Amino acid sequence: MPDFVVSLSERLVESVTLAALEAYVLGDGRPGRRHRPAVETFGYVWGYGKGHGDHMVLYLDRMSLSLSSQREPDAVTPNRHAAELKCNLMERWSPHLSLIGDFHTHPYASLAEVRETQGWKFSKADVEALQNDDFLWDKADGHPVALVVTVCRLGRVPATFGTMPVGDAVESFDVGEFRFWIGVNVGYLDEDGRRRQTFADGDGVILDLGNRFSNAAGDRIAKHVR
Ligand SMILES: [Zn+2]
Repeated sequence: MPDFVVSLSERLVESVTLAALEAYVLGDGRPGRRHRPAVETFGYVWGYGKGHGDHMVLYLDRMSLSLSSQREPDAVTPNRHAAELKCNLMERWSPHLSLIGDFHTHPYASLAEVRETQGWKFSKADVEALQNDDFLWDKADGHPVALVVTVCRLGRVPATFGTMPVGDAVESFDVGEFRFWIGVNVGYLDEDGRRRQTFADGDGVILDLGNRFSNAAGDRIAKHVR
């Protein structure tokens, strides 16, 4: 069983949350509709991995929203040329980063609906899309990461502190009257070279939205300064 820690930069948490919020509240701005429904939205994620074999930290640094994706209330379809196009620019500007994954959103009308359907989970279509994304598997060096950001509007807004885990691979947090869940699924190759996914395994990944909020016992960062 592999052992991945997926760590998200502060700006990535910020940008995926902003993207999910706008697509949820305002739709995608198509003209001719008075009521614009919440839609799913989609973007690409850059970062890097460090580690050995199956023990890896995957650091997800930044995201670019994909304007050319087809956004609908219960689906989003990427443009088949978008990943390569954006990747080509990033390889020139930020060669220290790799295209490491993608993200999309799951908008829900209410908290009850999210809980009933466990809306923070990856769908069958999500799992299939990752499984067959040859370009991403190649660019991410065999460890592609899928993020899903689920969002709903809260009826009552309780006081909450920090993030609320839903298992190891999903964290939830509130901003105003909205609740968000960020879930992660990591692809990897097993010993026979077959593509596997931690979400399908039900294990093997820990999502870390902010290790700045915890500290290990006995840890020191200024070992040589007193
Ligand atoms: Zn999905």
